[in-house]
Amino acid sequence: MEEAHIHWADVVARAVEGQQVIATGITPSGNIHVGNMREVVTGDAIFRAIRDAEKTARLIYIADTYDPLRTVYPFLPAAYKKYVGMPLSEIPDPFGCCSSYAEHYLKPFSESLGELDIALEVYRADRMYKEGLYTKATKIALEQHNLIADIIESVSKRKLPAGWSPYNPLCERCRRISAAQIIEHVPARTAVRYRCDCGAEGVADYSRGQGKLAWRVDWPARWKILGVTIEPFGKDHAVAGGSYDTGQRISREVYGYTPPVPVPYGHIHLKGRGKMSSSKGVTISIQEMLESAPADVLRYMIIKTKPEKLIDFDPGLGLLTLVDEFDRGEGRAFELSRISEQGCNVPFRHMVTAVQIAHNCDELVEVLRRSGYETTDTTALKRRAQNVRNWLDRFAPPFVKFEVQRTLPVQVKTLTAGQRKVLEKLAKALETDSMDAEWLHNEVYNISEQVGIHSKEAFKAIYISLLAKTSGPRAGWFLTTLDPEFVTARFREAAGDVR
Ligand SMILES: [Zn+2]
Ligand SMILES: [Zn+2]
Repeated sequence: MEEAHIHWADVVARAVEGQQVIATGITPSGNIHVGNMREVVTGDAIFRAIRDAEKTARLIYIADTYDPLRTVYPFLPAAYKKYVGMPLSEIPDPFGCCSSYAEHYLKPFSESLGELDIALEVYRADRMYKEGLYTKATKIALEQHNLIADIIESVSKRKLPAGWSPYNPLCERCRRISAAQIIEHVPARTAVRYRCDCGAEGVADYSRGQGKLAWRVDWPARWKILGVTIEPFGKDHAVAGGSYDTGQRISREVYGYTPPVPVPYGHIHLKGRGKMSSSKGVTISIQEMLESAPADVLRYMIIKTKPEKLIDFDPGLGLLTLVDEFDRGEGRAFELSRISEQGCNVPFRHMVTAVQIAHNCDELVEVLRRSGYETTDTTALKRRAQNVRNWLDRFAPPFVKFEVQRTLPVQVKTLTAGQRKVLEKLAKALETDSMDAEWLHNEVYNISEQVGIHSKEAFKAIYISLLAKTSGPRAGWFLTTLDPEFVTARFREAAGDVR
């Protein structure tokens, strides 16, 4: 195989030796959206590629639950102003259903991981701190304060503010985690003395999670604590002087640890709307997307694209094209995207037509049977049907939508004599026993030729008489899907030949 044709995940897998730990992570400060999905799917693709290369790996996920709330996001109540600066794990759930703010946004995300067939070990930053996993790394960071500050300033080419510390104590009085300055490090007590903006002075024990490391230090500390060897992360961390650059030097020079193989990835844009962002409201949550599209196709969208490339995601017609591409089932990206659960055998595109014809589940089974799909697994069938209905409601362009008219549409008045003739002949053809979709589709061309009108006009006549519009799903398949008696009666009625 030529180097250029090797899948990017296999390239990563080939380059590493020994037990691997692939780290992913997200801050649960808002709806975890489709853009965030790239992080875990990228990690999972590498995980699978390593496993396929008969090497061993663990896939882990660190939820940054101890990060402070940065601002009152538009989706939060105004009263949440009082929580700005407090760690997400210590703030109440704005919706009142979960144990904390962080848990509220983690929950739907964890559920979606199951649907995406991603199994990972979850760590919560607040627990890692509270359980003492960071104690040694924090002590080292406080002792190496000057070295760390030098590295950050020289690599990022930016001056740190006066009083900067690698460690941010959690103020006992105001509960904020980024407002205090350190007065003194007391290593014997694994503690710092601090003075907070709010006027409080106190002691924070870093072996008990009474504070956290600054992000640029937290990241390399975490590599060593968890033994991380590979890490996908957003491209913005990978810029020159960014947190990966400072992180690698801190990792080597302060913690004596070889930094992980970086896998920077680009954003996912929403077609026509730009970068996805929860705070700006340009977003589709993972949950919402999984309700409207097959999970393996969403995986495929990410895995088929090289991580460094931007993905311009079109959840409308673009999704259908993606489904078709996935259904051809070719190549390494397809293999890495497949999910183990047995899916539905009815193609997504066919289901788009079928659910618009059928009014209930029994009718749906009948419609699918007529077009050659025997459906035994009704659970998978119902799930796919619901998926498609959601897609039609939320993302489908208007021309994909149609409704079979229960009575003769008034628009048939516009049909020409030629068009009526075609419908009459088609009604006759529909009585043929052994017809199938392909045959019927060709029959439309044959009949148009016999009658002497353009096939386009013939197709229009079909859609007008059934859907009251001039376009619709692929005719042969569409017609075989409908009840043949209904169609022949309608065509004759439209042709003016009512019996
Ligand atoms: Zn909740
Ligand atoms: Zn305070």
